[in-house]
Amino acid sequence: MTLDPILEPLNEAQRAAVTAPLAPVLVLAGAGSGKTRVLTHRIAWLIQAEGASPHSVLAVTFTNKAAGEMRTRIEHLLGVPPGQLWIGTFHGIAHRLLRRHWREAGLSESFQILDSEDQQRLIKKLLKAQQLDESRWVPREVQWFINSNKDEGRRPKDLKAGNDPVRAQMIRLYGLYEETCERNGVVDFAELLLRSFELLRDQPALLQHYRQRFRHVLVDEFQDTNAIQYAWLRLIAGADGHPYVVGDDDQSVYRWRGARVENLQQFQRDFAGAKLYRLEQNYRSTGTILAAANGLIANNSGRLGKTLWTSGERGEPVRLYAAFNERDEAEFVTQRIRDHVARGGMRRDIAILYRSNAQSRVFEEAFLSARIPYRVYGGLRFFERAEIKDALAYLRLLVNRRDDASFERIVNLPTRGIGAKSLDTLREAAKTAGGSLWEAAGLCLGAGLGAKASAALQGFIGLIERLAAEVAGLALHEQVDRMLAVTGLIEFHRREKADRGEARVENLEELVSAARGFSADGANADLPPLEAFLAHAALESGEGQADAWEDCVQMMTLHTAKGLEFPIVFLSGMEDGLFPHQRSITDLEGLEEERRLCYVGMTRAMKQLYLTYAEQRRLHGIDSYSQPSRFIKETPEELLEEIRPRLQVMRPVAAGRFAHERAFARPGGAYAPSFAAGRLRGESEVPGFRLGARVRHGKFGEGVILSLEGSGPQARVQVNFERQGTKWLVMQYANLEPL
Ligand code: ATP
Ligand code: MG
Repeated sequence: MTLDPILEPLNEAQRAAVTAPLAPVLVLAGAGSGKTRVLTHRIAWLIQAEGASPHSVLAVTFTNKAAGEMRTRIEHLLGVPPGQLWIGTFHGIAHRLLRRHWREAGLSESFQILDSEDQQRLIKKLLKAQQLDESRWVPREVQWFINSNKDEGRRPKDLKAGNDPVRAQMIRLYGLYEETCERNGVVDFAELLLRSFELLRDQPALLQHYRQRFRHVLVDEFQDTNAIQYAWLRLIAGADGHPYVVGDDDQSVYRWRGARVENLQQFQRDFAGAKLYRLEQNYRSTGTILAAANGLIANNSGRLGKTLWTSGERGEPVRLYAAFNERDEAEFVTQRIRDHVARGGMRRDIAILYRSNAQSRVFEEAFLSARIPYRVYGGLRFFERAEIKDALAYLRLLVNRRDDASFERIVNLPTRGIGAKSLDTLREAAKTAGGSLWEAAGLCLGAGLGAKASAALQGFIGLIERLAAEVAGLALHEQVDRMLAVTGLIEFHRREKADRGEARVENLEELVSAARGFSADGANADLPPLEAFLAHAALESGEGQADAWEDCVQMMTLHTAKGLEFPIVFLSGMEDGLFPHQRSITDLEGLEEERRLCYVGMTRAMKQLYLTYAEQRRLHGIDSYSQPSRFIKETPEELLEEIRPRLQVMRPVAAGRFAHERAFARPGGAYAPSFAAGRLRGESEVPGFRLGARVRHGKFGEGVILSLEGSGPQARVQVNFERQGTKWLVMQYANLEPL
């Protein structure tokens, strides 16, 4: 066996894929089988064994974080930094191309990126200007119409309305939206891809240049490429190129955003002589976790078919916890984290995964009060918080005065006497002159605006100009710091009431730290630091958040978790209607996508997997009672172990079954699931109630206590009601009356 660091840590099948001849390659393999590892080693191998220049490699990853990790890994394998290698997401790479070739792409030099929220705000404004009713022309739907067409590579001119007046209006709005973006020098996410595709398609010399340069194009998570990304890949690889793509049809989870899992098969048709490699050994998860995931995904139809096995240990059972409500669920997870940490484990080993972002809040509250550091990836993103967006808007305006969205956001923030009416005047003037709000402001100063508004506006313009002059040449974090001081944003929030203002000030201060810690990665390295930072804020919100160095629990949606792995995983909110999502329950394809998402979630776990659900949940302010997720029922029963003894309570404890659970539970902790301990505690800690006692409940009537657990406000009681059957209730709220 060779001791080559590139090939040695691979199994036979992986090695074959890494050393494949220069032809189109598709690696089709299940979760945790080493696809990402193979892709990374392939790059190192191309450079070392094939003599490829790092300059000729273009690698597409799923997140910017993954790109960073891949770069480090390659450096490690080669022993030297891989220099000019391009690694990034589709969006990141497209952005980089557009920055380089803004002129050919028909953009302004300092174009800014519009995130999804900015985009929606812009659409709302457009609807208002068109005097269209938002309840009929729902901004979200207009946004979806625009983005999904861009994802398919279609401009307004490519769309036909036929006899459909609604569609005709949508197409018109799409056109107006494009004009506005053009005028403002802004580009949305979908536009990055489409624009860079058109750039290469329409500039043969440029295409030729990049085709010659990027002789090696590699794509991870290929199952989630959409139409425009795939078209882009085909374009840059060329008909006789040899792209190298890896993916897993069972992990395709972005159909709703235009991803086409069919690209896996299409690839083999489009690239003649494509070689198919399969990897079958999973290195990530225990046998039990793998069997659970395999059992679940077997319920899907139309799969491409793969084998996945592990030589690893069987490991512990998959644990199932039925919580009373969402707080109890969070409490349970908190307790398990504490136990893990008390035994010397790291918090970063633990991931809490959920279907929808809104679920994070209850966990966040529980972790905050338990003083458990945590980190939310995506969702409640740092860069998306209002005060941060305000600050970024100032920075964006410094870079590009024509950025109308930023102008509007901050022209009267902190309040300086420029009201809605003055702003309307500016908008009108901008429209008439066909220019930006900034330009219109210059025009309106003497004429059009009242003396007070004029003075205020003059003050604002002066402020921006002074600030721009003042920060030029400063280090990035000093620029941010100066901006916060000069604009008065910090002062403004400091005067706000209590906690809220304080948190905002903290966030703003955090922005200075973020700037201090920022170094432009490969994709943005050629930009001036401030512009690189703004691009980073727009593209990577959520990733690389503050406090990355701290040992903290990881929280993220299932979608965000793709490609990652953690020793301990909690899949929370396993309830029908939440996961699978209500929207998808009645639609077979949608349900299968949800199941793949669950498969992705389960296969993130290396050692321990927990499934938790709540019998009652308050989400978005509404209480609902739901059934456990069908995905729990689809998981082979023999692999599952319920943590709460539930119906076994009246039977003697089976000595072995919960033995390891007892080791987990802290002495006297609320979750010691041993029945015997529960009974003892129950009797002593919930005064007035005993097992077997008869009680009356306001709604459910009379019944007999079957079980008592926990203490204090956490105490719970299981009652067998004569008419309503068995229910778990929280003592604090149940108002039980002893009989
Ligand atoms: P996913 O489908 O989730 O993206 P993947 O197929 O990309 O997974 P990797 O993330 O590359 O899988 O690998 C999964 C884990 O197995 C990683 O921790 C990786 O380091 C490890 N691994 C992969 N191949 C080997 C091997 N030959 N020997 C030891 N460990 C391996
Ligand atoms: Mg992977």
